Amino acid sequence: MEIKVELTKNPKEKVPADNLGFGNVFSDHMFIMDYKTDKGWHNARIVPYSSISYEPAIMVFHYGQAIFEGLKAYRTEKGEVVLFRPEENFKRLNASCDALCIPRIDEDFALKALLKLLSIDKSWVPDAPGTSLYIRPFIIATEPHIGVHPAGSYHFIIITGPVGAYYKEGLNPVKIYVETKYVRAVVGGLGEAKASANYAASLRAQMEAEKKGYTQVLWLDGIERKYVEEVGTMNVFFVIGDEIVTPMLTGSILPGITRKSCIELLRSWGLKIIERKISIEEIYQAHEKGLLKEAFGTGTAAVISPIGELCWNDKKIILSDGKIGELSQKLYDELTGIQYTRKPDLFNWIVKVE
Ligand SMILES: *Cc1c(COP(=O)(O)O)cnc(C)c1O
Repeated sequence: MEIKVELTKNPKEKVPADNLGFGNVFSDHMFIMDYKTDKGWHNARIVPYSSISYEPAIMVFHYGQAIFEGLKAYRTEKGEVVLFRPEENFKRLNASCDALCIPRIDEDFALKALLKLLSIDKSWVPDAPGTSLYIRPFIIATEPHIGVHPAGSYHFIIITGPVGAYYKEGLNPVKIYVETKYVRAVVGGLGEAKASANYAASLRAQMEAEKKGYTQVLWLDGIERKYVEEVGTMNVFFVIGDEIVTPMLTGSILPGITRKSCIELLRSWGLKIIERKISIEEIYQAHEKGLLKEAFGTGTAAVISPIGELCWNDKKIILSDGKIGELSQKLYDELTGIQYTRKPDLFNWIVKVE
């Protein structure tokens, strides 16, 4: 399929790196493609970033068929622009499509479209240390219709925007509230999909945790409230004795690409990394025995987010003396090293934007 290009006549002014924050600024162009039942995916185009008008009846507003992805483009010291495992994002987007009865996209074509969009908006990839261009592909149901069934029309859109450094003064341990009242997802539900609905479902717990002075919640499984699942919108790892443990993908956990990359790195370093069910009780017991060395979240935005404190049923424990764990720091340095091409790309994870 051909991708039509309409360039903007009014390029926007760039925002200085210090004022970027996260998710506030958008680049000049976006990619958009239509789906209709009788035509399949068609009309691929790159156009100026702008408002889109929709009828109030479009189905995403009413029945929530919305999925998304999140990845970054990095400016290397040589001035090149690279992506980190982007094919994994489009693979996962298709898995999310399946979960929400959204028609699949062609993964190779989607990557080609992204590379074309980035080559047009290359100047939007910031070069200050720790900054990057955040990329948000998403699909929404656009058929105007009231009635519950999969929509007959969709938009696949990719928008991008420069984001500031997540950590301005090095890694920062966070306080985590272990959520026992609300759940994020259940096996058989949408937890495995990057569905907007999962985020809507997480807001109330997040707000209540913030009110109590915590940064994020640690989600437990939806049935027994016993097994650890994720931390906020990140996957989670624990270092217990000489083992590294992360919850296995049971069906209610989002299969993170940072999670997968950490597992592959840890394995390549000859460390013992185990995917299994892990109860919150076990975590607390390991802490009591002095075996819980560190814990951290993993995700594209923060890469690694060390956990400094946990609170479960009013019982508070401090991890790694509230400091950054050794392994958290090592994984962070290795992953960001590969992403900004300061370190060799031994796994072929890097894709260059021409
Ligand atoms: C996106 C996401 C993650 C992290 O996935 P990455 O591919 O590592 O960015 C983890 N948990 C949830 C719920 C997510 O939505």
